Amino acid sequence: MYGCYRTEKFKIFLILDVFLVLCWMLFNAFSRPVRSAGSSQEGIFLPVVMYHSITDHPQTDYQLSPEIFAQDLYYLYANGYQTVSAEQLLAYTRHEADLPEKPVMLTFDDGFYNNLSLALPLLEEYDMCAVISIVGYYTDVTAEKDPHADRYSYLTWGDVQELLKSGRIEIGSHTYNLHSNAERAGCSIRIGEQEESYASMLREDLGKLQSEMQMHTGSISGVFAYPYGFVCRESVPVLKELGFFCTLTCREEPNYITRDADCLYGLSRYNRNPAESAEAFFTRILQKSS
Ligand SMILES: [Zn+2]
Repeated sequence: MYGCYRTEKFKIFLILDVFLVLCWMLFNAFSRPVRSAGSSQEGIFLPVVMYHSITDHPQTDYQLSPEIFAQDLYYLYANGYQTVSAEQLLAYTRHEADLPEKPVMLTFDDGFYNNLSLALPLLEEYDMCAVISIVGYYTDVTAEKDPHADRYSYLTWGDVQELLKSGRIEIGSHTYNLHSNAERAGCSIRIGEQEESYASMLREDLGKLQSEMQMHTGSISGVFAYPYGFVCRESVPVLKELGFFCTLTCREEPNYITRDADCLYGLSRYNRNPAESAEAFFTRILQKSS
């Protein structure tokens, strides 16, 4: 009788055990976050900030005062973030270097003179680096005519050389002369346009700026920022052919850097407009996606 009771009890425990193991397996299967291809969270979390003009007035979505920019840098410094360059990211993907524990990337589009006159001194103060993506036509033509005004002027080739001399700036390309929505959306392919003729148009435009970079600075750009964030897949082979290893979009989401160099194509960025305080902005963008 007693033995029979023990056998029954054993059976109950066995069934309970199997039931608990099944529950545990089911829980694990359904509690894992869903990950889509291309948004792997196994890499290093990298937020990228997009700035344009650093100027006192007027404050718009693409113009930020030097005071707010300084607050941003102080926030990052005080919270242990370290800026990284595109070259550092590339070295990481090639197993040649590690990244800091809390990396962040700062980028500037359009090539405003105030990136040199107002932003660089602050980057130096906080020992930080950034990527500045210039529009070749602005540097070649527009900047030569304007008077180096902090508020609206563009960088000349002399300014570009000075930025590079600081050792904390990488110069990216923002196209030679496709920073417009008149002919097409930025540098993207038009509906119905032949892929071959698109590729040769893009090769000519981007190649012109790469040649000028080589001539004025001794090296070509490795970073490309899509004008207005208009990305198209047809641009990628041309960008790779011209030596770009990192491209920047305007999609606002976190990046995860892996040991695969292809993860540097199409990095997302958060536009920094002055509507939020440094704390509110960074609290928002420094969240890893779950
Ligand atoms: Zn732009």
